[in-house]
Amino acid sequence: MTAKVKTIGHNAMMQPILIEVEAVSSKGLPGIQIVGLPSGGYRGTVRRVRSAIRATGLRLPPLFYTVNITPNVPIQASSDYDLPVTLALLSAAKLITDTELANRLFLGEISLTGDIKGADQLIYAAEWCQKSGDDLICGASINNLAHLFADLTCHTVETLDQTYRYLRGLLQLPGPSPTTSEPISTVQPVIFDQIDGQDLVKRALTVAMAGKHPILMIGSPGIGKTLLAEAAASLLPPLSQSDEIELRKQVTASQLTRTIQPPFVSPSTTVTAQSLIRNLTGDISRSRSGILFLDELLCRTTAVLDSLRRPLETNETNTLFILATNPCPCGYYGDTDQACRCSAAEQRRYGRKLSGPLIDRLAIIVNVSRTNNLIRSSAISESKEQQTTAFEKVLNARQAQLNRYKDENIYNAYASISQINLKHYSENALNLIDQASASLAHSVRARNHIIRLSRTIADVDLQPTVEAEHVAEAIQLRNTSSLPL
Ligand SMILES: [Zn+2]
Repeated sequence: MTAKVKTIGHNAMMQPILIEVEAVSSKGLPGIQIVGLPSGGYRGTVRRVRSAIRATGLRLPPLFYTVNITPNVPIQASSDYDLPVTLALLSAAKLITDTELANRLFLGEISLTGDIKGADQLIYAAEWCQKSGDDLICGASINNLAHLFADLTCHTVETLDQTYRYLRGLLQLPGPSPTTSEPISTVQPVIFDQIDGQDLVKRALTVAMAGKHPILMIGSPGIGKTLLAEAAASLLPPLSQSDEIELRKQVTASQLTRTIQPPFVSPSTTVTAQSLIRNLTGDISRSRSGILFLDELLCRTTAVLDSLRRPLETNETNTLFILATNPCPCGYYGDTDQACRCSAAEQRRYGRKLSGPLIDRLAIIVNVSRTNNLIRSSAISESKEQQTTAFEKVLNARQAQLNRYKDENIYNAYASISQINLKHYSENALNLIDQASASLAHSVRARNHIIRLSRTIADVDLQPTVEAEHVAEAIQLRNTSSLPL
């Protein structure tokens, strides 16, 4: 029997995959052959490993070694397998025992001289070991991630010699050093109190943020839509642990810093549908637990608009979708300051780009009207009343949803109607939903938006029962009459 050395890989879906490395020796011309990894996955490993073992003063008996890596599934190529391959060889040469390798997982690239460097797959290994209880032994430090993996034992090793002596019980390794708390930056470019007026839109954004309801803002150019979206970003609650781990998988191990903020992603108007929805690295994936702000919605291609339907419907990334558009091609339809120059035909062509299925997936539709001063000069230092209140309301709703769904990643906007449970709606509230659906000829989706929105409105105000007033506000927040013609 040979020992199986555990290490970690990940698949294209960024899920960790346990990899086992074992080596057997046989008589024959001395050599090392690795089988099992897709071709190229171990380029250079044999050369580095052989040189490192020699440099460390260890000696492999002159035999033929076959290293087998299982399972034989497509995984990302990585030099992180150098260390486990080396240890499998040392085990085949009986220089290390099974017991010394058990309950441990190894990761790290080895230099020709036996130095161990980094670990690209550190976050995957930490995620795995946290669950399995294995100790992680690797070339990278876990210090920046310690707040995410409190139950994990991780030892950082610098050389093969040090690793060997530690495994043999000849050397103690220090545990993770105590984490120093870096202050999390709370500087936001803009907050609600700096924006003059716009109380309805601020309320709409607060409700949207609280329940993750997709929102469309309609208004003339320069009216403050971008500013309002940026201010909404200041309401983002801290990342949940699982979302932080998923977001961190998108940066390379060397870029892992201690703090990470919920993202605000604002794709350019030329972004393609493909780069928007691309799995894992697309703009929507990058906006996990943050905001995707898509301005100039109707200046984008039909392909981009159509590609939004699925993410708006399922929202696997827990993104808040904030969409914004001008009311017409020239931008000034309905504006109090400037006259619209568009012909009726131009307006219709423009409005038609916003398809029925896309409108159906928007929970909140609000008009942003012109105010005299966009930014209040004095407000920020004196009072942060609106901001503080809105942030508290988002947190209230977050807590209510955590209690209701017993799962940290379900929000009202994406809960089923049975999860939301109409038992907690007053009779008047249910009657108003029925009346509105009939008079506004609501689709099933539109009706469900009203049900979900009114739940969130009650949640932000800490009300266990949804009343008619909450439903009335929900209807007001889904103002389809403000849509482009
Ligand atoms: Zn116009």
